[in-house]
Amino acid sequence: MTDQNNNKELEALMAETLGVRVGPHKSWDPVNQPMIRHWAQAMGDQNPMYTDPEYAANSSEGSTIAPPTMLQAWTMRGVTGQHAPGTRERTAEQPYVLDILDEYGFVGVVAVNCDQEYFRTLKPGDDISHYMEIESISEKKDTALGTGYFVTELWTFVDQNEEKVGEMRFRLLKFIPPKSDNKPQSSGSSKPKKAVRPRPGINRDNRFFWEGLKEGKLLIQRCKSCETLRHPPSPMCPSCRSLERDAVEASGNGVIHSFVNLHHPALPAFDEPNPIALVELEEGTRLVAGLVGIEPEDVKIGMAVKAEITQCDEELTLALFRPVEA
Ligand code: ZN
Repeated sequence: MTDQNNNKELEALMAETLGVRVGPHKSWDPVNQPMIRHWAQAMGDQNPMYTDPEYAANSSEGSTIAPPTMLQAWTMRGVTGQHAPGTRERTAEQPYVLDILDEYGFVGVVAVNCDQEYFRTLKPGDDISHYMEIESISEKKDTALGTGYFVTELWTFVDQNEEKVGEMRFRLLKFIPPKSDNKPQSSGSSKPKKAVRPRPGINRDNRFFWEGLKEGKLLIQRCKSCETLRHPPSPMCPSCRSLERDAVEASGNGVIHSFVNLHHPALPAFDEPNPIALVELEEGTRLVAGLVGIEPEDVKIGMAVKAEITQCDEELTLALFRPVEA
């Protein structure tokens, strides 16, 4: 796996998988009201179009509909890993590009993004299947996680008449994980030089936040109309739907509202376990941030913390939080 020839061989094998349509993958159950109800309850979505037959009967749809975002749920494998009867599974002539990448050492995987498009509403009784093909494979890229390939899967969802009802593009990065040499046996051993932290995705909505940190300020987005604070930054106020916004500088004082100690996956730029908190700022909004100056086992909900604006490297400044001595 060391030379150009190997790359060429891999890329040729991957190219053969492009556009090969696999399926159909059948649904265990048709679109049905009980699954819709469970979903709506789990999501806290009280739209009566999903669950109130009387309300829905008087709508332009004439009956209840499934939440569009349930699209992928209908054709999922069962908990035993099986697709429903009638499914045509992948054959030996249809190798899966992710398996090929595994064989060449690209065993790391991370989902990058998922786009769904809906062509009609689904209703109880619809019987959904999906087909899947590999739409594109990037050139080899160096990323913060390691060297790898971005793979885009195109899932096409059809109804009982084989008419297309939706599409999903699911993008993954398959990469070679860095060697795990970050498990010193004794606490005194010297640590290898760390990889740099992943870069944030900076866009028009959140640029002010990252630029604020570079100036030593923890800025929180505020709705200009109703003054509600929100984080992470977004284009529209969820309270009053205003698009007008500015930002206020937070004091950096807060308490740990919740936290995790991340053990897996081990990422090269971070210690493991890695304590990450959801911090409730005194201004009243929350943000996710790394903790410093505390052992993972000592982190407690309700603990007072203060932001420490930290320049991690030339490009990256972060707000990390440190416990405040009582
Ligand atoms: Zn507002």
